[in-house]
Amino acid sequence: MLLLTADHVLVDRRFLAGGAVLIGDDGRIVAAGRADELAALPSAAASTRLDLDGHALLPGCINAHTHSFQVLLRGNGDNARNFREWVDGHLYPLVMRLDERAIVAAALLAYAEMALAGTTTVGEFFYVHHGRDGSGGGNTHATAVIEAARRLGIRIALLRTMYDLGSKPGQARFRETADAAAANTRELHALYAADPTVVVRPAPHSLHGASEAMIRAASEIAAEFRAPFHIHLAEQQGDLSFSTSTYGVSPLRAIERMGALSERTVLVHGIWLDDGERALLADAGGALVYNPLTNMALGDGVARIPDLVARGVPVALGTDANNRLNLFDEMRTVEYLQRVSALEMGIVAGADPDSRGTALPLLEMGTANGARALGIEAGRIAPGLWADLVAISLDDPSLWPAACSGGDDLLNAVVFSMVAQTAVRHSWVAGRPLVRDGRLANMSLDEIRDEIAAVVQS
Ligand SMILES: [Zn+2]
Repeated sequence: MLLLTADHVLVDRRFLAGGAVLIGDDGRIVAAGRADELAALPSAAASTRLDLDGHALLPGCINAHTHSFQVLLRGNGDNARNFREWVDGHLYPLVMRLDERAIVAAALLAYAEMALAGTTTVGEFFYVHHGRDGSGGGNTHATAVIEAARRLGIRIALLRTMYDLGSKPGQARFRETADAAAANTRELHALYAADPTVVVRPAPHSLHGASEAMIRAASEIAAEFRAPFHIHLAEQQGDLSFSTSTYGVSPLRAIERMGALSERTVLVHGIWLDDGERALLADAGGALVYNPLTNMALGDGVARIPDLVARGVPVALGTDANNRLNLFDEMRTVEYLQRVSALEMGIVAGADPDSRGTALPLLEMGTANGARALGIEAGRIAPGLWADLVAISLDDPSLWPAACSGGDDLLNAVVFSMVAQTAVRHSWVAGRPLVRDGRLANMSLDEIRDEIAAVVQS
């Protein structure tokens, strides 16, 4: 047992002063509340106690959508003229160069940076299944990515992509038949069934990447796993005309007609959903993963987040193309994008009746809603959930003066001003250290830099 105490602990959606978390040997939270009360519990008597003076404890961030290999696009493609040029002139040339060593090096770099900025779970939407010549396939690369996450000690939801459309040379690295994709997804799921820090979810790529048969297969596997499935949908305006010409209806209506819209459906992007589709998503109990910084970078557009929040759709967050790997940046960008569009303030807080006018709904997009989107038991500091926690230093100047007052001021500062890369000092996944004293607990950053240098120069 481990008893963590801190100046402030986020429990029941508020910062509690003088709080603590009691963690069982199985890595789950036993209790959370006032430190003096937890210390008096009989179950805490034999625990190891760690007093995090000058720190606040939060649930770790959950990055619900990332393609880790795209971190290698940094410095290349930032000034493409449009999305199509970015895809064809930058993304696909990178895809054609990737080998397994580069895939692993990119995953280590991306996940290390995420961890150092407070992320404890990564949702990896992974689709480069085949070798450079289109050979191989199966789960070799997906397994290598999972093993990279395990080396670092970060939790991973491998969103195993199912892709059977497209004729570009790069797409040959993604394509499988629906039968092969389904078999490989089930096999990968079984392979990691005994590891509580790894889950596998089906992820038909998109309407342009996955056929109706593939999307139906993914939906069936999700039901079998009792878990969500993820699909890119309505990211670009062009996705509407593709759906209309292929299926005769808008993207989410196409999913509905396939019988694949339910509470297991998690849409990635959803920028160009119309009013009726947003209502449809809410009525079905589905969720959304939103990637505002990537949407800005690629000129995708602005999703109608306040409307989705008001309808009760859980909105999670991701870093997608991974130019920056910080969920706190994504949280504040959700709100700021709405402000420049609507010329108002406090927009997401205003759309959530339970927010007390605070940044709480933004923080929950990067934590509890991410857990919901990935189907994992984390995202809050509450008994029974995994002890995936982050300790931030109240000595970090980006939290002053709110660090002195605590409460909702501190919560707002965490979302709107904190520089996570310097404020995050420690983190744990299932009670085991991921970041210690501002450094990776299980690997050296030097080793990762050397791997990146080796694959870039090869
Ligand atoms: Zn994506």
